Amino acid sequence: AKQRGRNTFHLFDPDQDRQLQLRQERRQRVAEALARGELRLVDQPQIDMFGGRVVGLEALVRWQHPEEGLLAPNAFLPIIEGSSLEAQLGEWVLEAALKQQRRWLACGIELPVHVNISPAHLLSGTFPERLGNLMARYPEVPARLLKLEVLESAAMHDIQAALDAMRRCQVLGIDFAIDDFGTGFSSLTHLRQLPVDLIKIDQSFVRDMLADPDDMAIVESVIYMANRFRRPMLAEGVETLEHARALVLMGCSLAQGYGIARPMPAEALPTWLEEWQQRHEW
Ligand code: C2E
Ligand code: CA
Ligand code: CA
Ligand code: CA
Repeated sequence: AKQRGRNTFHLFDPDQDRQLQLRQERRQRVAEALARGELRLVDQPQIDMFGGRVVGLEALVRWQHPEEGLLAPNAFLPIIEGSSLEAQLGEWVLEAALKQQRRWLACGIELPVHVNISPAHLLSGTFPERLGNLMARYPEVPARLLKLEVLESAAMHDIQAALDAMRRCQVLGIDFAIDDFGTGFSSLTHLRQLPVDLIKIDQSFVRDMLADPDDMAIVESVIYMANRFRRPMLAEGVETLEHARALVLMGCSLAQGYGIARPMPAEALPTWLEEWQQRHEW
């Protein structure tokens, strides 16, 4: 083998090449999963802790892997980040959520479903048109039953482009929630500008707030800010009754978390809803 000098400019680095190849193979496997119908949605209920009413659902993607079982999004979404697969997968998720809505409406369940939109997908330029076309194919599903969750960090990264895309979706009757709020360092001015009608407090702060005074301070100030701007807010990561009590005392009554329900397959939802309505724990 040829010896490489310390300052040689390498056009070919076998390690780097191998890594690139591995990455492409893993992407290819996600593409195949999409084509073979191995992706699924699971739904996590959102409730109003005053009275316990179910107010919505968040649809979360899973990969039913033939060998590895049910994979969480962090096992495959990072692999496709930045590739054209990202928008393809996003569109599959949107359509799956609309199909699911159509089935539920047919059995009398009418709850808004929240869909996570990746930053690249939202900012792809054609997103609002494509969404409009997709929704036209599901005329049974009213736009108010679809809500898009956009990461705070994404909205802030290119606020003008985000605002533009969000406004064009609003024309279709689509509302937005701002996701993982508290992690994106947005200023008050920006928060005011964004056409969002729900602020979701990031689960990491909520989950740890009872043990960590800094997290508690963040949760408190987000709730204060959201109330000042008269924006509804929802706390994620509500794992226990103590979390629920503390949040209600601070003025946040909408919640989502393992303490209420874990994400579940669509087939399990009707039974869960019935059982939930019969309980009065919250
Ligand atoms: P997220 O949007 O913040 O979604 C909430 C995540 O928190 C979900 O994880 C959910 O299972 C989890 N969670 C809910 N309640 C609790 C709780 O009480 N305690 C704890 N520890 N965790 C809780 P999941 O399903 O693994 O999703 C992770 C992230 O992947 C999501 O975070 C979202 O950013 C992304 N994601 C999921 N589905 C999609 C999708 O269809 N499209 C895109 N672009 N991103 C998605
Ligand atoms: Ca979300
Ligand atoms: Ca979140
Ligand atoms: Ca998150």
